[in-house]
Amino acid sequence: MKTHPLYLNGDWFAASPFQQVNNPATGEILAQVATIDRQRVAQALADAHAAFLRWRKLPGKTRGEFLHAIADEIETRSAEIARTITLENGKPLAQSQGEVGMTVDHLRWFAEEARRAYGRIVPHQVDGKRHLVVKSPLGVVGAITPWNFPLVLAVRKMAPALAAGNTFVLKPAEQTPLSAVALAECVAAAGLPNGVFQVVLGDAPEIGREFLENPLCRKVTFTGSTEVGRLLIAGAAATVKPLSLELGGHAPVLVFDDIELHRAVEGALIAKTRNTGQSCIAANRIYVQRSIYDEFASAFTARMQAMKVGDGLTPGMDIGPLIDDAGLQKALAHIEDAVARGARLLCGGKRLGAQGYFIEPTVLADVPPGALCLREETFAPVAAIAPFDTEEEAIAQANDSSYGLSAYAFTGSLDRAFRLLESLEAGTIGINDGVPSTSNCPFGGVKQSGWGRELGSEGLDAFLETKHVSLGLQL
Ligand code: NAP
Repeated sequence: MKTHPLYLNGDWFAASPFQQVNNPATGEILAQVATIDRQRVAQALADAHAAFLRWRKLPGKTRGEFLHAIADEIETRSAEIARTITLENGKPLAQSQGEVGMTVDHLRWFAEEARRAYGRIVPHQVDGKRHLVVKSPLGVVGAITPWNFPLVLAVRKMAPALAAGNTFVLKPAEQTPLSAVALAECVAAAGLPNGVFQVVLGDAPEIGREFLENPLCRKVTFTGSTEVGRLLIAGAAATVKPLSLELGGHAPVLVFDDIELHRAVEGALIAKTRNTGQSCIAANRIYVQRSIYDEFASAFTARMQAMKVGDGLTPGMDIGPLIDDAGLQKALAHIEDAVARGARLLCGGKRLGAQGYFIEPTVLADVPPGALCLREETFAPVAAIAPFDTEEEAIAQANDSSYGLSAYAFTGSLDRAFRLLESLEAGTIGINDGVPSTSNCPFGGVKQSGWGRELGSEGLDAFLETKHVSLGLQL
């Protein structure tokens, strides 16, 4: 079994205890990764601070060239890195290749944005004064990331943070640290100065506390569950630490009877099954207008039944295993709960095989409002369908959630599309589009799905401080 060290201040550091990494398709141990204690994390923050004092002085163009160099390294190693993602996360290889491609795109987007941290000159109110608005980096950023997109979600934070002139300490999820190690290898090969990017692993609450309480860490950026997001908010109170929070989602899909059925079926299918349903923007609730309800349910069920489920390394798979047994048990509990409340099981519903954490693609129809799968993230290829009659009813159902990360609607009416985009309470809205994310546009949640935005020009701004400089002049 291979043992991977952590990347700390430009060195590789291998110390026990080691964190074991499993393959969710087989349950086998893949590798182990070093861990460190809170004191060593504090050292990483101190090293990151020392590196910040030099890194911030580089022109944005030079920092951007470093990001392009990391992207070049990732591209060169893309086949092997995609395989690593599939091995530790389980997703089908083609989707891991897509994740690597999006990672490269994020790096190149922010490499160019590094030149565009514009301030502005504001007209004065009083003679003899001039006002500048200046953007500055924050300092050391502590990042905590989840397992479901282990490479791209780390880079979605790291690329803008470094572009803006900050330094970065990454704590990946315990299930998927190998993608972070591969990223660190690419950073090292790209020749970034020591301490600009580091990877730590260990007791998550302890590392979180160090990020929150250490005054050298100036911002904590987190992607993960709303539950852990709440803990970070509480922990940030004592030091008033700035937080960016990308939290859970519970995306509704609204299917109206004025859309070609196949467009709605294919759009809902990808929104449901991508990443084995373990995406924060996964379709969790599919509301279909009653006039096309049965037709949609049977066409969608046929497509779900045709999905190929298996080890992500086997060519042609559409759906891989769930991340672990807890994920599998949660999905099965959601199915059981919905059926007990009167939902109809149109396909699937059971665990698949005895090895790994596979589940049959599942469709539940007539799911009643109180069902768990209409309230909590299912995080599995389990689709819950329910009918609606009017547009107002559909919007009310879609917004009846404490989450607000993403929403989807399928309609042939431009007027309706505008009414929906103005009414739906979500940070990302896909109208006739089941895959709405792009490097170029902001991403983030409303309500309990989070604070702040990543990607787009907003993604850079999240790692910049705004200063007003008032100049008293004798003119
Ligand atoms: P999670 O349990 O919240 O874990 C996320 C990260 O937080 C992991 O690195 C974890 O470390 C760490 N963590 C756990 N407890 C902590 C604590 N007390 N203090 C500090 N850090 C702590 O979430 P997950 O199960 O990995 O990911 C799935 C969730 O992420 C879903 O809710 C999904 O919707 C959300 N998500 C949101 C977005 C978005 O952009 N909004 C994107 C992807 C996923 P360990 O692994 O070491 O425990």
